[in-house]
Amino acid sequence: MIRREEPRTVRVRAPGKINVFLSVGALQDDGYHDVAIAYQAVALYEDVRVSESDDFTISVSGSVELGRVPLDDTNIAIKAARLLAFHTGYAGGVQIEIDKHVPVTGGMGGGSADAAATLLACDALWGTDLPRDEMLDLARQLGADVPFAFTGGTAIGTGRGDELSPALAQGTFQWVLALADFGLSTQTVYGELDRHRERHASEMSPANPAPSVDADVLQALRAGDPRMLAAAMHNDLQAPALHLEPSLANVIETGERNGALAGIISGSGPTVAFLAADLDTALELQVALSAARFNVVRATGPVHGARLIPD
Ligand code: ATP
Repeated sequence: MIRREEPRTVRVRAPGKINVFLSVGALQDDGYHDVAIAYQAVALYEDVRVSESDDFTISVSGSVELGRVPLDDTNIAIKAARLLAFHTGYAGGVQIEIDKHVPVTGGMGGGSADAAATLLACDALWGTDLPRDEMLDLARQLGADVPFAFTGGTAIGTGRGDELSPALAQGTFQWVLALADFGLSTQTVYGELDRHRERHASEMSPANPAPSVDADVLQALRAGDPRMLAAAMHNDLQAPALHLEPSLANVIETGERNGALAGIISGSGPTVAFLAADLDTALELQVALSAARFNVVRATGPVHGARLIPD
């Protein structure tokens, strides 16, 4: 009889994301905000390889600046592995190797992708075989963007951003991403938004307690129409991110002058995502922004969520 050996190493690939729409509700008593997000997973991937081990260890390599990635128990990938082990009663550890291509602290959910990939990879490595719903519950406990890294594609996130419903979408969108050589902490950007709303309370209408994604965005995604999406994209965190890092306004302007349909800060920034009408325009924009000495990469979306890949 031929016995199939349990795999001793598992690889999973998970995508980064762009928030094509992000509306932030009023500050709540617990310090959180409800949000309404339209997520699109894009073809910038984190590759996570896990191997059997007695301890929990991590190493990180990749094409992006890695200085801000912690290599201890605070790394969200280790948190994900420990959470799954605790939840399932698995007694061993795991060696995690991350090959990173999503900019760190860039507003593109790289850490969330690592967490989703690690959950899926450890589940396969350890043979714990959790149902999808339970995996999504664990993902939610790790961070608001982790469930989306798991599911990928195009989705609407409400609540903290982690109550997901799939959005109808067709076609492929062409993005050019301008990466910054600094990071912006999500918490700092939300803090700046709260201060801005407080300062201007008398001139602004109060923040919506139950934000929702604009119908125009849903229609543009459904139609696969980049021009319609460019006109409908919006991010409530853009103004506070620009206030904290005024140099980003020049990045947006340069992209829009060089053929982008629109530029938007992704999530809490500082990555600026430019939507192009088609591949040719995206390639021209990539060349123009590179010539202007910006660090740019091109990516298409939507793409699949966290997925096992053959070793
Ligand atoms: P989001 O868009 O989900 O708010 P982000 O893309 O702005 O997140 P990440 O790169 O996911 O930011 O990481 C945010 C912070 O989390 C970093 O400051 C880093 O110190 C910490 N961190 C923990 N684990 C990781 C990881 N595996 N990769 C990157 N950062 C990590």
